[in-house]
Amino acid sequence: MVLRTVSTMATIAISPTQNRPMSDKISEQSRPNSDLASARFIVDIDLSDFPAVRESEYPYNPTADQLERLKKVSEILEEAPAEVILRWAIDTFYPKLTMATAFGPEGCVILSILARLQPNVRVFNLDTGYQFRETLELRDRIAAKYGIQVVLARPELSVEEYEKRNGGPVYKSDPDRCCFDRKIQVLKREVVGYRAWISGIRRDQSPHRANAPIVGWDKKFGLVKINPLARWTKNQVWKKIMEENIPYNPLHDQGYPSIGCWPCTRPVLSGEDERAGRWSGTAKTECGLHLVDEQPLPPPTTYGQL
Ligand code: SF4
Repeated sequence: MVLRTVSTMATIAISPTQNRPMSDKISEQSRPNSDLASARFIVDIDLSDFPAVRESEYPYNPTADQLERLKKVSEILEEAPAEVILRWAIDTFYPKLTMATAFGPEGCVILSILARLQPNVRVFNLDTGYQFRETLELRDRIAAKYGIQVVLARPELSVEEYEKRNGGPVYKSDPDRCCFDRKIQVLKREVVGYRAWISGIRRDQSPHRANAPIVGWDKKFGLVKINPLARWTKNQVWKKIMEENIPYNPLHDQGYPSIGCWPCTRPVLSGEDERAGRWSGTAKTECGLHLVDEQPLPPPTTYGQL
């Protein structure tokens, strides 16, 4: 079976016997079970007019026609295996394709697939300076197993400088601004020059993520966003991790289903939502990376300052 995009006219083999760029070890969960099933996912829609992100105060504003084409692509890929979605993304956008990961279980699954398809996709981690030691060690384990060197993308100010300028930890006084300064502004910087980014969000993680498309337009950052695991459940993710011995954060075995920065993450209690341990005790549920925002981000002129 062949997956083809008009934009590059490149041809990707889904069949394990043709032109596989990496190992043939594709899990049964990820592999289309027949050529007939795979034919459902042929994408014949040109996205070559989607530009790369520029250093600009205002993100690119796609036309109605462009948005309609993205919607159609997403509909075609709605039930496609994650591997097929990622193959399409690579064929369409690589090398102007990037990925952000916090090394959650979903991100680790995607990295394991990228390692087979195209290990040179640039992957970065938003290293706020407040991450758990176990999270940073997982980066090394991923590199050892898959040869993927995840870039640590850091804010301009160290934790010490940032807290000194702000009279103490901002995560205590204004966690929204802390996330904005140490995550959102950094991601905005990291996607400059790229046309699309990959995220590991799942629809069943939170109400904010319930309508995430497989492929859509990210208004906040001004590029195409691909969510290859949007349809997956938590159980599917862990099944894949166990079956393929994919490295994961050991804190998940200590009651942390969702892991962010250590000041804003606690273990969850039995029966609690999997994200209940994030910003516990506050109304905040998201760092803002995956929230749809109609307003463009402000320029980083007050970056990390009072
Ligand atoms: S999760 Fe907490 S420590 Fe990390 S950037 Fe957001 S507010 Fe700051």
